Amino acid sequence: MAGQYQAPRGTFDVLPEESARRARIYVAAADLLARAGYERIETPVFEDTELFERSVGESTDIVRKEMFTFEDHGGRSITLRPEATAGICRAYVEHGMHKLAQPVKLWAWGPFFRYEAPQAGRFRQFHQIDAEAVGTDSPLVDAEQVILLDDLLRGLGIEGIRLRLSSLGTADSRAAYREELKAYLRANESEISGDVRERIDANPMRAFDADDESTRAVMAEAPRMIDRLSDEDASHFAEVRGHLDRAGVEYELDGTLVRGLDYYTRTVFEFESDRLGAQAALGGGGRYDGLVAELGGPEAPACGWAAGIERILLALPDAEREPVVSVFIAAPDEQRDRALALAVELRRAGIGADLDLATRSIKGQMKQADRVGAATTVIVDADGSARLRDMSSGEQRPVELDRVAEELA
Ligand code: AMP
Repeated sequence: MAGQYQAPRGTFDVLPEESARRARIYVAAADLLARAGYERIETPVFEDTELFERSVGESTDIVRKEMFTFEDHGGRSITLRPEATAGICRAYVEHGMHKLAQPVKLWAWGPFFRYEAPQAGRFRQFHQIDAEAVGTDSPLVDAEQVILLDDLLRGLGIEGIRLRLSSLGTADSRAAYREELKAYLRANESEISGDVRERIDANPMRAFDADDESTRAVMAEAPRMIDRLSDEDASHFAEVRGHLDRAGVEYELDGTLVRGLDYYTRTVFEFESDRLGAQAALGGGGRYDGLVAELGGPEAPACGWAAGIERILLALPDAEREPVVSVFIAAPDEQRDRALALAVELRRAGIGADLDLATRSIKGQMKQADRVGAATTVIVDADGSARLRDMSSGEQRPVELDRVAEELA
């Protein structure tokens, strides 16, 4: 019956070779964020459904049709997390983190779930790195966050990066704009898609994300929030841009950038790469000043971003496969106990070492040494004498078995 089952649609296995590439992204992010004072948090993979309805928003695509929601055996509705911010804000409130020095800077890494049509770069289980700074409305934080994501993506070697930046204003200043936009959409009702028309009242800004030609043409002429900012919103945004300019971060102002979640206020941003196809977004985020209070917590303005690991991997140039171990020990049958003893000794000395575990011939073992990418092979002969072979030059020299660790250190 082998081979009967497949990973569910829109999911994938991370095989060892890919796993090493992903680990490099993890290490780069962990290092970069730690240097900026972010600490790692882990929240559950599922939360109460209501948390996402309240935060992401009932009228968003995510909540309307993309969540994996089910009842547990106790009749509670739970949802596999579609994004990270809601859970982190829930944790901030639940653990009284507003009593800590503000802002609380957190980062996370893990799987997220959205019921979307799978395609290149779009999965039903995908992975994100996420950074959040909760508890300040300073424009310094918006800038810090954009700079961090820019540094991360560039540091990994991604090319063709484009950064779109906008401001959505505060909920108050947006209320008047929403009415203006609704009136505009109603006036153009015959030209917009049914999906957008249905949500004129619930979520008019979503019209900016529509894919169809006709709606896009209407939206090209639509009023933009970025032209309707209050004086305070505008000066906040000008400060953010000033910090980015001084940091040498290039961006495009794009008043059509709305992001698909309800909680954003003021600064929003999105990084794309032209090395990706239709799913060009590498990561994005923005400020969400009202969310923590909305979830029953204190007033705690915040800003955060999430970047997609699979998108980053797609945009990265192919890397050579890294060696599995640096030393391989080849030995005939009668010397295998000494081969294992040497492997153990080398490992304890901090050297990656492996030996044949499949009764291969010596020739087969040399092939295996190549396969695992070993830089050096220790060849043990039947009489217990040994040689060190440099795998790239092919040079060999005799060595005493009990001095190998010393020689290689
Ligand atoms: P969002 O919060 O929706 O902007 O998601 C943040 C990032 O996660 C995106 O920029 C993508 O890189 C990644 N992402 C979102 N949805 C998916 C998905 N279904 N499959 C793979 N990556 C995704």
